[in-house]
Amino acid sequence: MSASTAGRVRVRDDLAGMVPYGAPQLDVPVRLNTNETPYAVPQAVLDDLADVVRGLRLHRYPDREATELREALALHAGHGVEGTWAANGSNECLQQLLLAFAGPGRSALVVEPTYAMHSLLARATGTRVVTRVHDRDELLDPAAAADLVAQAGAELTFWCSPNNPTGEATGGEVLAAVCAAAPGLVVVDEAYGEFGGSHAAGLLSRFPNLVVTRTFSKAFRMAGLRLGYDGVRLVRLPYHLSTLTQAVALRALHHRGVLMAHIAATQRERDRLARGLERLPGVVVLPSDANFLCFQTPAEPARLWRGLLDRGVLVRDVSRYPTLDRHLRVTVGTPAEDDAFLAALTAELA
Ligand code: PMP
Repeated sequence: MSASTAGRVRVRDDLAGMVPYGAPQLDVPVRLNTNETPYAVPQAVLDDLADVVRGLRLHRYPDREATELREALALHAGHGVEGTWAANGSNECLQQLLLAFAGPGRSALVVEPTYAMHSLLARATGTRVVTRVHDRDELLDPAAAADLVAQAGAELTFWCSPNNPTGEATGGEVLAAVCAAAPGLVVVDEAYGEFGGSHAAGLLSRFPNLVVTRTFSKAFRMAGLRLGYDGVRLVRLPYHLSTLTQAVALRALHHRGVLMAHIAATQRERDRLARGLERLPGVVVLPSDANFLCFQTPAEPARLWRGLLDRGVLVRDVSRYPTLDRHLRVTVGTPAEDDAFLAALTAELA
């Protein structure tokens, strides 16, 4: 864009002042801020994926409907292929759902503190955001959850389970109550579902207004691939999912046993990390069903974040989220990375 054109071009009024979402991507020895798994894809799997790529007909457009991949994902998720859709990361799934079921003149419910992209994508699609804050001290039983959702009256309800950045999964009864009470679509974001505790897929046959989104970015060890999947195929660009993504994701599903073999170890490491954190004076760890931990610190969070960074450890400062002042979030890393984090934190708090 030339300088003279830039003067005449204005971003939409409702988006003015919005800043792009994203954690800092800093090259430090210990990166525990974006909840990927720390374990690289094994070389044998990469070699097999490379073989697949060698055989691709890249001069042709990809399969618009990503049929073969969707069939494999449907099998993987134990769900019908008609109700299975794939996109470039679950963020794109969420955006497509908003375009189809929300947008201008409609609203989306976001229960804070939660994944910031839910409200950002809602705003980007012209959807009015209805925010409710849930304090962890208040019991959210099925009746309370149903009340909250019904009163908000939104066409689309986001529900993140396990919730990012706090970590806890929502029980099946609460999810069922949410689906029953919501006046429109319920989108359960299960980006961390494989780490345990979430029950949404079991409700799909009972609640036609339910969509569950999952991703290859976390337990599946393939954040770099950009693949997410969900249950609705209403809005998509033609050829939105590249031939490379489709072929590599399809092949990666053959290796899912190997790719997800770390889950039990990650859960054990999460519990070890939680115990390590709890031993530090003034630190309170929130319960987690995911591959990260949210913890309250006695120190000023921005200064602590900076201090950890200076010691080569990058975590996430979540202290600006409602109810989370004085909190940081740390991804479960390798035992060595977690020890480095604990050592750095111990030194910072001393
Ligand atoms: N949902 C939640 C709760 C997340 O934390 C993330 C990634 N941080 C996503 C969705 C998006 O993941 P992706 O687009 O990589 O699938």
